[in-house]
Amino acid sequence: TPVIGVLALQGDVREHLVALAAAGAAARAVRRPEELAEVDGLVLPGGESTTISKLAGLFGVLEPLRARVREGLPVYGTCAGMILLADKILDPRSGQETVGGIDMIVRRNAFGRQNESFEAAVDVRGVGGGPVEGVFIRAPWVESVGAAAEVLAEHDGHVVAVRQGNALATSFHPELTGDHRVHRLFADTVRANRAARSL
Ligand code: GLN
Repeated sequence: TPVIGVLALQGDVREHLVALAAAGAAARAVRRPEELAEVDGLVLPGGESTTISKLAGLFGVLEPLRARVREGLPVYGTCAGMILLADKILDPRSGQETVGGIDMIVRRNAFGRQNESFEAAVDVRGVGGGPVEGVFIRAPWVESVGAAAEVLAEHDGHVVAVRQGNALATSFHPELTGDHRVHRLFADTVRANRAARSL
């Protein structure tokens, strides 16, 4: 069973833990570098990206996380988590740092304010069984992707799901829907990566 952590500094941690368990992973909260060292994969939850990156710095987990992502740790970011995985943010809040890992430029709050949050059916490449229900809450979109990144989904002409190597990001929140197909896709990546590393 792959051990998948959820970065538990702020945001919808509990929902991801439930979804990961349903997807067949051993799920646990990660706050400290020692906890990060023990996981085979990590989810960066939805929430407030500026708060999460600030706390990650304070908890001393930001640099170790960057290092593990560079080494190929499978990571999955939803919404704020997507922002954290972007190599570049358009108009970053001053001093706003990211973890990086996906060669893309992300625009925060691109779909509008909190009261313009919405749901829409989204076709995600690699996820069988029809479209997933996309929950967009002050969601970012991907302004542009580099050559190494693969677009997995679009909504209204905007990129809302991207993968690069072992890193996956969605603008929307599958953890809020009870449909665990995207978490299963990520758990499969974690399993495959773990198997490849133990050869
Ligand atoms: N707007 C938030 C941010 O910029 C993300 C919102 C979310 O994760 N639902 O971090």
